[in-house]
Amino acid sequence: MPGRHFLFVPGPTNVPERILRAMDRAMEDHRSSVFPELTTGLFRDLKRVFKTTAGQPFLFPATGTGGWEAALVNTRSPGDRVIAPRYGQFSHLWIDLAQRHGLRVDILDVEWGEGAPAARIAEILADDRQHDIKGVLIVHNETATGVTSDVAAVRLALDAAQHPALLYVDGVSSIGSLDFRMDEWQVDLAITGSQKGLMLPAGLGIVCASPKALAARQQAKCPRAFFDFGDMLKANATGYFPYTPSIPLLYGLRESLAVIFEEGLEAIFARHHRLAEGVRAAVRAWGLKLCARAPQWYSDTVSAILVPEGVNAAEVIDVAFRRYNLALGAGLGRLAGKLFRVGHLGDLNELMLLGALAGAEMAMRDVGIKVTLGAGVAAAAEHYRSTAAPLAAGAPTAPAPDPARPGPGQAAAPPAAARA
Ligand code: PLP
Repeated sequence: MPGRHFLFVPGPTNVPERILRAMDRAMEDHRSSVFPELTTGLFRDLKRVFKTTAGQPFLFPATGTGGWEAALVNTRSPGDRVIAPRYGQFSHLWIDLAQRHGLRVDILDVEWGEGAPAARIAEILADDRQHDIKGVLIVHNETATGVTSDVAAVRLALDAAQHPALLYVDGVSSIGSLDFRMDEWQVDLAITGSQKGLMLPAGLGIVCASPKALAARQQAKCPRAFFDFGDMLKANATGYFPYTPSIPLLYGLRESLAVIFEEGLEAIFARHHRLAEGVRAAVRAWGLKLCARAPQWYSDTVSAILVPEGVNAAEVIDVAFRRYNLALGAGLGRLAGKLFRVGHLGDLNELMLLGALAGAEMAMRDVGIKVTLGAGVAAAAEHYRSTAAPLAAGAPTAPAPDPARPGPGQAAAPPAAARA
């Protein structure tokens, strides 16, 4: 299909040209004496993205799922009890992974469309006077439902109960796009992947561990080899890896961090919020509903949009893809067919999103959903226009007309000699 592909799944996200170029390089010796010049800077700068000074970042050649596993097997033993609210496909899959490693998971089922129930967690922790619960697992941004949870509130729940359980947070679709404060929220294990806010291809499972999490390794008996923090720590201390790292991804990460710091984390969070608000304005204008049940849960990185009863959302996605070259996210698990998702994270601006909204509108009309063409686009455009930052004073305007080259209908200025 001619023209650009519109990639609007909530990961992998668009990779900026300069990151693509940074990854396009010859392989090199990952044991050379200069290699640590690349890696030590990565570890240092990643901490800024996690907002931690005390945390220890790990870079695994893996994905977010590998990050989940690394976080658990390095800090837990089979039979350990953890609590985990389940409010979407990713919290569900993380629980499943924990169970496969022999953990006893107290599952707190929550309506899909809501987030972590901090008050319920507080009660459970307060009742656990023996400190039998060893960990609390929270998905910060549930990508399947477009719901963001309040991690700070979960931290308060732990503190109120003076409970020593470790706080595990999946930040796969939040870190680098939504405000995430590892140190302030005392997150013990924070997990992300490369293919979302970091604007890279999939291939890095990134985990950041607090000093308390690193100490927990001493008692943790879950078998681990590839994901062993100990092997990583030993090799990373001198800027190397215990096995062959992905050279292109590391150079890509170097560039990604540069892109992030040039814009600034706070500006990135504000941009994501503004872009997301435009999408939400479009959803209202279509007369549709988000899966997220209340504004407190709205995600600024992904919107999960429910289609009317009797419509299969998979058809919207299929038509958008085949007819308009637009990739929208599918409904996952029990939400399959009920919604489609618009990812609005990473390297993205207003006009890109307006294009995606236009494609979504057309695809919805094509499958018989009664939305007014242009309604969502207009609502989002109005939001973007009315909230745009003022142009900087002195910004260049159109060039002054050149008297020697008159436009149509204008008389040419007489030669300089005639004017004199
Ligand atoms: N957690 C969340 C919130 C996700 O959105 C995803 C993937 O989309 C994962 C975990 C799993 O990550 P990966 O697919 O990189 O293994």
